[in-house]
Amino acid sequence: MKTLQELTRPNIWNLKPYSSARSEYKGVTASVFLDANENPYNMPNNRYPDPMQWEVKIAISRIKKVAPEHIFLGNGSDEAIDLVYRAFCEPGRDNVVAIDPTYGMYQVCADVNNVAYRKVLLDEDFQFSADRLLEAADEQTKLIFLCSPNNPTGNDLNRAEIVKLLTAFSGLVIVDEAYNDFSEMPSLLADLDKYPNLIVFQTFSKAWGCAAIRLGMAFASTEIIGILSKIKYPYNINLLTQKQAMEMLRKYYEIERWVKTLKTEREELMKKFSKLSCTVKVFPSDANFFLARVTDAVAIYNYLVGEGIIVRNRNSISLCGNCLRVTVGTRMENDKLIEALQQYNKQV
Ligand SMILES: *Cc1c(COP(=O)(O)O)cnc(C)c1O
Repeated sequence: MKTLQELTRPNIWNLKPYSSARSEYKGVTASVFLDANENPYNMPNNRYPDPMQWEVKIAISRIKKVAPEHIFLGNGSDEAIDLVYRAFCEPGRDNVVAIDPTYGMYQVCADVNNVAYRKVLLDEDFQFSADRLLEAADEQTKLIFLCSPNNPTGNDLNRAEIVKLLTAFSGLVIVDEAYNDFSEMPSLLADLDKYPNLIVFQTFSKAWGCAAIRLGMAFASTEIIGILSKIKYPYNINLLTQKQAMEMLRKYYEIERWVKTLKTEREELMKKFSKLSCTVKVFPSDANFFLARVTDAVAIYNYLVGEGIIVRNRNSISLCGNCLRVTVGTRMENDKLIEALQQYNKQV
């Protein structure tokens, strides 16, 4: 691995971060706060929140078994995705490499930041080869994006290839684990200390059932976390989000139950879906959704919209011709989908 200084944009490396009132005074013993130009009348959100979100990080740390200094919290994973570009990629000069197809935000943020985005097609089993990603990389490649389980394909990426890439690549490897809760594959978080160039993304938006509060997590070395924390907006996680996250973290057992149920429902739904006459193939899934090739994705998508059922049409995505991406819902929602598709088959 190159040194972190070599990988970081010089202006970011040398940046002196904005010092907010709440970051300069960290104690809890004071009772009179006249430092931040807040309104003293509490309605009740008059005070700025903790800019470093220590209470939330400590609670996450207990569940994830990762020290709080290795955790960055963002306004969704989307903030973390944007910040790694802004921290490490010089616009118009540096590039990143990513698997294709994958989550669309990696490319959108590359385009916003004027960073070249090099796509390497997955094979027919939706797997990647470390060597092929490394072939696409050069001196200017700062980041490689992986997503496991991958969106929209639903499968875990081969762990041996991920490890190979982490060992061989001189830049940073991002592994987006938004759907890891639904997979049998252990998270890479346990290996964080082994790979100083690893950044793992997770989120409250999927298994945790909190897409509305916008809370994403990045886990990495204290040095990488330090850089991301230095360039984020000072109060990027609002107090209501921090409070709701604490509430959910206290109900951890509830999330484990949801995940267990959703995994059972996934198997049930995939089995029923594969028996439909409009289904060509259901691809294996390690996530809370699955990808399926159907006879006519556009026609079936439009038919389902008419029935008030929305799935994701992935027809125009690489390797996903005539594919729909289906999220696993409640038993009742899944049954409605299957019934509607059985009706569709009778019509055509
Ligand atoms: C849904 C999803 C996320 C979550 O993004 P948030 O901004 O945290 O809601 C991240 N990565 C992937 C691959 C996803 O599918």
